[in-house]
Amino acid sequence: MQVFRLKGDFRSLDPVLPLLFDHGARGLEEREGEVWAYFPERVGLPLEGEWLSLPDEDWLSAWKRDLSPVEAGPFLVLAPWHKPRPGLIPIVIEPGMAFGTGHHETTRLALRALGRCVRKGMRVLDLGTGSGILAIAAAKLGARALGVDIDPAVLPLARENARRNGVEVEFLEGSLEASEARAPFDLIVANLFAELHQALLPGYRAQLAPGGGLLLTGILHSKGAGVEEALRGAGFSFQAEKEGEWVLYAAAPGV
Ligand code: SAM
Repeated sequence: MQVFRLKGDFRSLDPVLPLLFDHGARGLEEREGEVWAYFPERVGLPLEGEWLSLPDEDWLSAWKRDLSPVEAGPFLVLAPWHKPRPGLIPIVIEPGMAFGTGHHETTRLALRALGRCVRKGMRVLDLGTGSGILAIAAAKLGARALGVDIDPAVLPLARENARRNGVEVEFLEGSLEASEARAPFDLIVANLFAELHQALLPGYRAQLAPGGGLLLTGILHSKGAGVEEALRGAGFSFQAEKEGEWVLYAAAPGV
């Protein structure tokens, strides 16, 4: 296991954390004054930091020791060795393998919004599914969920997470074109990034059922104005919800 060490903490490095995952990071850990990003192999990174090699078992035990369950809306996100809590819907995710353990603000924003919006029987698309966490959450609320990801490496992990949670979710490789044959959807949830949402807005709209809505996150607060302008331009009305530097837009075609 290779570790890329960056100076700072989760808060100060928040804007660059998605970049680490985009370059193949399998997990992040906050240490004293540093963030350690774990990679299967060294990659070129446009960031200041230094590489360190670790035996795999050290990484695994450190990760497991430090990880705690995450509460978001009606859900409790757990690693397989954690205990469920009464009154919360458990989502068991094998941590450290793909983005989507509930430890990032954007995942929590999306889980809370799903808790408010999903009704039994809804057709839900989770674009950029990663660990499958959002599709699994929707399925736990009774939705027919489809998870799509451009990275083929995450799909077996997402399928295994769905199996572990006892829910049926279909997972497909690709981007928005992959879900076209399954459209329309009552809800599209996507934790990507601002510029990509802006580019995909017409495609989202084309795949929404009448009365359907969007939950868009992965958007830095500083990039929100661009997304809001694009949403208005595409005829959506919306509400924003923030956590830390991050924002989620709940949007629906305006009347
Ligand atoms: N849905 C999970 C969550 O909310 O925690 C994971 C979100 S993670 C920030 C973004 C995921 O989107 C990654 O797994 C990445 O491979 C995927 N992705 C990036 N660009 C994409 C695209 N154009 N189409 C589909 N998936 C994409």
